[in-house]
Amino acid sequence: MIPYARQSIDEDDVRAVAEVLRSDFLTGGPAVDRFEAALGETVGCPHVVACSSGTAALHLAMLALRLGPGDAVVVPSITFLASANAVKYVGADVRFADVDPDTGLMTPETLQQALNADGPGLIRAVVVVHLNGQSVDMQGIAAVARERGLFVVEDACHALGGASVLDGRRHPVGSAVASDLACFSFHPAKVIAMGEGGAVTTRDPDLAERVRRLRNHGMVRNPADFSERAQAFDAEGMPNPWYYEMPEPGFNYRASDIHCALGESQLRKLSTFLARRRELAALYDEALAPLAPLVRPVPRGPSEHDGWHLYVVLIDFARAGRSRAEVMRSVRDAGIGTQVHYLPVHRQPYYRTADRELTLSGADTYYERCLSLPMHCDLQETEIWRMIMVLRDTLA
Ligand SMILES: *Cc1c(COP(=O)(O)O)cnc(C)c1O
Repeated sequence: MIPYARQSIDEDDVRAVAEVLRSDFLTGGPAVDRFEAALGETVGCPHVVACSSGTAALHLAMLALRLGPGDAVVVPSITFLASANAVKYVGADVRFADVDPDTGLMTPETLQQALNADGPGLIRAVVVVHLNGQSVDMQGIAAVARERGLFVVEDACHALGGASVLDGRRHPVGSAVASDLACFSFHPAKVIAMGEGGAVTTRDPDLAERVRRLRNHGMVRNPADFSERAQAFDAEGMPNPWYYEMPEPGFNYRASDIHCALGESQLRKLSTFLARRRELAALYDEALAPLAPLVRPVPRGPSEHDGWHLYVVLIDFARAGRSRAEVMRSVRDAGIGTQVHYLPVHRQPYYRTADRELTLSGADTYYERCLSLPMHCDLQETEIWRMIMVLRDTLA
């Protein structure tokens, strides 16, 4: 079975992990610092905090911004559940934004619509999702957010290696130049794998410090930050060696050295991975051209700006006279895995409230047509051609 996504692991990765297993630290050690430094270098951001998953990264971002009950956060409906759930974790309300029907991306216009719509809570932040590895219009969205005094959080889980264009200049996704924080996932389906893992990036040292503290139970160990002086220091003013403080509860969202060693090793191959993904995307474009307009790739901006997490096509199932389920089953019978990214989150039973039946036609239109074809570095070109043939036969 060819999966729609999978990790690409080589002997260097195995060695990097084995080295940690033979070292003194399985967690809380130097591999975490090395991974954070390497990721900061890659995405051009001064502060990086590695954590246990992309979901944890999003939760930490919401906590760091002190969002909570009474607040609301705009989230696009076409995304993974976690983008919205992180808002609920802090007790805030989700306001779903529509997306462009062809790219699945939130736009400045759909953000504005969401800001104008009624709903619970005071809107204080927006989560943008660089779906499939394609960056949203950060400049336009940041302008709308700035005007309303909103925080901007980037869900960059799809977009390691991607870039946003601001004032004609290309900025790596994760540099957080137009946002407060960016969140990554390094689940094996993503561009690099840690097993489970994630990271938060920010240019704000105070936010970074807060994320770091909340990742580790909310514990403070820096004597300069202690508030209970009588407890913290001895008669000579020396900090007591066992002492720590907790101004507010955090979580155990740490990433282990085992995971970070794998992350660092994978990161070294990022440009090779991205080049391979671009190559495969170009091959897909070529192989799919004869199936237009029944099947066409999600339209994109300048392709060098894409992170290439997923290769998504839009299929006119009605015109083909075949349902998506039929198409998925017949390609699966041929040993090919596909997936749908994503079911509109606003339609999930939890978010679908009877009194607020939300209509987001862009999200629905995108969802009705999208199908993610296999995209990963070990995919063979012959497999792509075989897949296109099965697709063509099924839709013919
Ligand atoms: C994968 C993903 C997440 C969650 O990441 P995990 O590491 O699986 O917790 C969040 N948002 C998006 C858009 C994702 O694709």
